[in-house]
Amino acid sequence: MTSVTIVGGGLGGLSAAISLACEGFDVTVLEQNERIGGKCNVRQGEGFSFDTGPSILTMPWVLEQLFERAGENLHDYVTLTRVEPQWRTFFEDGETIDLHGDLPTMLKEIERISKSDAQGFLQYMNYSSMMYELCMKSFYKRSLTGLTELRSYHTLPELLKLDPLKSMASGTKRYIEDPHLQQLLNFLVMYVGSSPYQAPAVMSQLAHVQFGLVFITLRVDYTTS
Ligand SMILES: Cc1cc2nc3c(=O)[nH]c(=O)nc-3n(C[C@H](O)[C@H](O)[C@H](O)COP(=O)(O)OP(=O)(O)OC[C@H]3O[C@@H](n4cnc5c(N)ncnc54)[C@H](O)[C@@H]3O)c2cc1C
Repeated sequence: MTSVTIVGGGLGGLSAAISLACEGFDVTVLEQNERIGGKCNVRQGEGFSFDTGPSILTMPWVLEQLFERAGENLHDYVTLTRVEPQWRTFFEDGETIDLHGDLPTMLKEIERISKSDAQGFLQYMNYSSMMYELCMKSFYKRSLTGLTELRSYHTLPELLKLDPLKSMASGTKRYIEDPHLQQLLNFLVMYVGSSPYQAPAVMSQLAHVQFGLVFITLRVDYTTS
């Protein structure tokens, strides 16, 4: 049996370990910390517990597939709870906007802020969903080494549809007029640590990932193994 050693027991290392073990490899995971989990972890002291990282899961099917590969059911191990509204956005001028995974409810919320943006929001969601589907052909499925490899997974029209020379913020502006709504959609990339003015337009797919699919809290009992 071929042996594999994985350095790091975060979610990445653990999922690689599970997949490789299912393929018949003899896997060892080396973790420097007291516990596996990496950023997905807990710190405890003086009667308090703090989750250190991820609390929301936008693509539960990724974990479901991983568990299925291992002949297990994700839902036997963790509780996934759909959150509605997903979050509430507070603006400096006192305005608040709730984000809903349910499209008709979200549209009502958009219309409350800016009636004329409802149509644009639907178009933005189509744009976002197209970006996501294109990425499914390359970014999400492969470890890309450069533009040449990216090109090999896409036709030229597809690459142009990715709006390679545009920023995420310019994509938002094309469909949405209201500054609050623009800010809200642009925030989706700030939340993962990037600037919407520098992040490529392809990141507009985050709206599809967060609104169009599901938004879930993950509760893990750290006291069990
Ligand atoms: C505050 C916060 C909130 C987040 N919220 C979300 C969220 O809601 N949803 C979401 O999907 N993602 C979220 N993320 C991102 C998510 O947590 C990470 O993308 C994910 O946990 C990264 O997993 P990883 O295995 O790649 O890396 P890590 O979790 O960083 O794991 C790397 C592991 O390798 C170990 N290691 C490194 N070097 C060595 C070595 N030389 N020897 C032994 N061990 C080593 C480290 O100790 C660590 O355990 C959040 C992140 C943070 C910080």
